[in-house]
Amino acid sequence: MKSPILSLRCGPRFQRRPVLVVGLLVLLASLPLVSVLAEPPTVNPGPVGGPPSDAIVLFDGESLSEWRRENGASPHWKLGQGFMEVAPGGGLFSKREFGDCQLRVEWATPAAVSGESQGRGNSGVYLMGRYEVQVLDSWRNQTPPLGQAGALYGVSAPLVNASRPPGEWQTFDIIFRAPRRLADGKVQPGSLTVLHNGVLIQDHVPVPETPTTAAPLQGLAERGPIFLQDHGNPVRYRNIWIRPL
Ligand code: MG
Repeated sequence: MKSPILSLRCGPRFQRRPVLVVGLLVLLASLPLVSVLAEPPTVNPGPVGGPPSDAIVLFDGESLSEWRRENGASPHWKLGQGFMEVAPGGGLFSKREFGDCQLRVEWATPAAVSGESQGRGNSGVYLMGRYEVQVLDSWRNQTPPLGQAGALYGVSAPLVNASRPPGEWQTFDIIFRAPRRLADGKVQPGSLTVLHNGVLIQDHVPVPETPTTAAPLQGLAERGPIFLQDHGNPVRYRNIWIRPL
């Protein structure tokens, strides 16, 4: 004969109780996620190398409409089949200005090697017209580390030399945070992360307030143009896009 207590504990009502308790706990645990975390926006990454659907395309290989000369005139650089090429007479500025950003730039130094060290395939990508990520033919080309391809020029050498041979297309994926003035008047350094041909070469390094050598713009600012340097070498660029952060 079953005891009354045993039959009570083993009854259908008692057996359902743990299930209900567990279900309630799961529900409570999930509530903060539901109420606090908004669903991230959807971004179509596009083809390999981008541009993603939320990027601003600065150069698609065909139009220089996003660029200007220092004096505001139309760009004088050569427009080739899917690329633009540095021409004598100065660098190009993006018409739009940016601060914190993710930037993709593809570049190629001349296939015909000419010059040495800093005179070989030199150009540069300046964030905010102030902070240069060096473009250089660093393939078997001895030069000071603070000036080789991917250096934050004069400030931070790349972790490794991930260069491809001259004439081949190379990639920079740059994540940049601008230096900014805080409420107490002090300047908080920015930061720079760079992948060169997919290889990490700058790992969240501090970006000082002072612009790098030969920067066309000076002084602390919240935004500035992307500047592509004319250093006297016919370096080519293509597939340039940016995502303000
Ligand atoms: Mg340079």
